[in-house]
Amino acid sequence: MTYIKKHKFLTLILLSILSNVILPFNSIEAIEPPIKIIETSAVSQFPAGILFKVKATSNSEIESVAVRLKIGLVKTGIYEYLTFDTADIVEAELLWKTNTLAGYIPPETIIHYTFEIQDAEQNIFTTEPQELIYQDARFEWDRISQNRVTVAFHGPIKSRAEAILQVIIDTLQTMGPILGAKTDQPIRVALYNNQKEMLEALPIKSSAVGRELVTEGMAFNEEGTLVILAGGSLALGTASHEVTHILNHRAGHSIFRRIPSWLHEGLAEYGNIEPGWSYSHALEFAIGTNRLLPHLFMQTLPGDPEDIIIFYGQSRSTVEYMISLKGHEGMSELLKLHQDGTNMDEALTQIYGMDRLGLMNSWRAALGAAPYIPPNIAESKPTAVTYPTVEAFTLTPKPGGITVSDSDNIDAEEINPVATNGSCNSPMSSNRGDLGIFSMLLFVTALSVRKSICKSKN
Ligand SMILES: [Zn+2]
Repeated sequence: MTYIKKHKFLTLILLSILSNVILPFNSIEAIEPPIKIIETSAVSQFPAGILFKVKATSNSEIESVAVRLKIGLVKTGIYEYLTFDTADIVEAELLWKTNTLAGYIPPETIIHYTFEIQDAEQNIFTTEPQELIYQDARFEWDRISQNRVTVAFHGPIKSRAEAILQVIIDTLQTMGPILGAKTDQPIRVALYNNQKEMLEALPIKSSAVGRELVTEGMAFNEEGTLVILAGGSLALGTASHEVTHILNHRAGHSIFRRIPSWLHEGLAEYGNIEPGWSYSHALEFAIGTNRLLPHLFMQTLPGDPEDIIIFYGQSRSTVEYMISLKGHEGMSELLKLHQDGTNMDEALTQIYGMDRLGLMNSWRAALGAAPYIPPNIAESKPTAVTYPTVEAFTLTPKPGGITVSDSDNIDAEEINPVATNGSCNSPMSSNRGDLGIFSMLLFVTALSVRKSICKSKN
């Protein structure tokens, strides 16, 4: 416990000197802090929030009781006041709500907190830092840990949890050096056994995404927390995909430049140990039906589920192509340049000798596809571009792949609520102050390709 006397500092020193000289038997009482903590608590009520309680008393009236929070690996802190009725012994309380999009904190995130109590005499008492695992209060959790990765699970799925833990550790070891990302910071993982219980734990359950897609997993990059559907057939692939997002973020994100979706998803799929989709078919289909997307120039993911698969396929293929040109070193250098503030065209030019258009057309040529003609050029030259004829991909199931027609397992969608304004996500009312905190990536499975997917339209 620390005790800070803001004012009357000299008076206090003088008094303690005097009391030591004149009243030696009262010296202990004289320096005892006027504010006394009787008890404090912080209890997870996830998904509703965290209930903070402080019971304290002071020689003068207590004027404020506040809590200071630090959420996971997020650098910025939060400060909020507890409410109480004036009394000799104050019982202050705050339910820090996390069931809003902006206030959301993923389960299993470690919360560091201290309380600050101030009285009418301007004495301030700060409690020692404590931590709380913000666990989902609906279940009893077990945890396994290794190499600073902790996987929380409930129910009889320990061997699944161990497999997922191993995949995450393996992915950190393989993808960390490729991306030039730090792997020594903790990663927290919450596993859910079915879609219903997982939806309650996610921040977007009321949106179209929640209704129409099976969410396989979600990465909360700032917090260093993953939520994964352990019961899904794609769980191991999802775990590797999601943890790669966290590594991408560590290697390439800055507050000035977020990593573009094609690179974020391309790398995450490159790190995916069990891709749920046969991307070669998606690419053949896209070339054959003239549906290759200008993915390097797209600010958001496409809305059409088939286009999303194509986008993922193109992005992964582009990342593979880039690595074939300049190796892993080229990729980690690119992310570093991006993090340092270089724009993507310049960064690509420095490493690959071509900007986005150059890279896209070089990649298309390698695939045997016709060059991309930007709209301003295409308008002046409306010449038809011919594409090779290939099989369409409504397709019979392939090992490790899925069909569009049954489409129970279409991976894909990234949602960044920070960038979402007036989309199908509910409007954000920030009680957190820092929306940059809320960069999250979502890996989902479409229930039906015919349904539209929630998409940010900013
Ligand atoms: Zn993703």
